[in-house]
Amino acid sequence: PEDIRVYEFAEACGKSPAEVIKVLFSLGMMVTKNDFLKQDELEILGEEFGIEVTVKDALEDVNYVESYEGEEVDTGSFITRPPVVTIMGHVDHGKTSLLDKIRSSKVASGEAGGITQHINSYTVVKNGQKITFVDTPGHEAFSAMRTRGANVTDIIIIVVAADDGVKAQTEEVISHAKASGCPIIVAMNKMDKESANPDMVKAQMAERNLTPIDWGGDIEFIGVSARTGEGVEDLLENILIQAELLDLKADPTAKAKATVIEASLEKGRGPVANVIVQNGTLRVGDNIVCDTTFGRVKAITNDMGEIVKELGLSETGTVLGLNDVPTTGSSLISMDTEKEVRDIANTRAEHARAKELSKSTKVSLEEMSGLI
Ligand code: GDP
Ligand code: MG
Repeated sequence: PEDIRVYEFAEACGKSPAEVIKVLFSLGMMVTKNDFLKQDELEILGEEFGIEVTVKDALEDVNYVESYEGEEVDTGSFITRPPVVTIMGHVDHGKTSLLDKIRSSKVASGEAGGITQHINSYTVVKNGQKITFVDTPGHEAFSAMRTRGANVTDIIIIVVAADDGVKAQTEEVISHAKASGCPIIVAMNKMDKESANPDMVKAQMAERNLTPIDWGGDIEFIGVSARTGEGVEDLLENILIQAELLDLKADPTAKAKATVIEASLEKGRGPVANVIVQNGTLRVGDNIVCDTTFGRVKAITNDMGEIVKELGLSETGTVLGLNDVPTTGSSLISMDTEKEVRDIANTRAEHARAKELSKSTKVSLEEMSGLI
């Protein structure tokens, strides 16, 4: 990934880091010179400085811990955070079934009866360690998140039905997964079926440069069945091994920063955002800004549907209190005052309007030049 930090960007375009930080700050984007720039921030900077910015791959990284020119980043309160795992794969290969199976196998039997409907993100505990899972609502949403620089995923599981093998969407998922730079685990699903052929899956994946460890490559392939539960514990153990290698850290005492994975307008509840907390702790009462929307957290529901007071690192739940429905993939950030979040949301909305306007002006100028 071609990540670029604030100071590197400043250097590249002959500005001081302070100038870059000031521009972003005026739009409510809080960065320090060591932070990685996100796609939308790069766009804004490009416009502001009148330069063309080509983005190859701008992923943010809340785990980045290093000092630059002697400036110390306070890592004192950093702790290990649970991995966020995204499940991807061809339609009908069993993503949803696998997620439901993992969840029901991990929920105390008394509660399991309460789970009737599928939810697309939740946290489970394996060997005393938490893992957060996310179902991809669709490739579009995943792409939208990536384009917005929302790198919520730490590990990607590619589900391939062992009786069906690599299909069109598996190919797409493979390229997304590779581009993300996340570790990949292949779950060969439907192993309970007579016609399951794991060697076929391995061969097809190896052709696409995802070579199984037992074939001399570096990708873990795990046979599972979302129906019987076979292989599920193995899969979870492998996720924990990958997570340990990633050494994921974040600061639970920081102001909350979460990513919207889904949002909608619910009758009687208003705008509802399903989020994953990437840093800090999100609490009821927090002033929040998300994209061009803002508000105060009125209520939080966790992944069990229970009303809670807060969401911690890598936890997911729904948040009530925004004044409008935010875009999937946008960052939700807590700030000290209501004024701050309102100002930021409004400035962003103005910026978006100005951008729209400049687009339409361009079009009309082109139309006009066509007439002359
Ligand atoms: P998704 O589109 O990837 O989310 O796939 P679903 O989870 O909706 O599953 C598609 C179909 O495959 C459903 O009819 C499931 O019951 C079936 N299915 C999923 N996993 C398994 C499995 O491990 N074994 C068998 N036999 N069927 C499965
Ligand atoms: Mg599904």
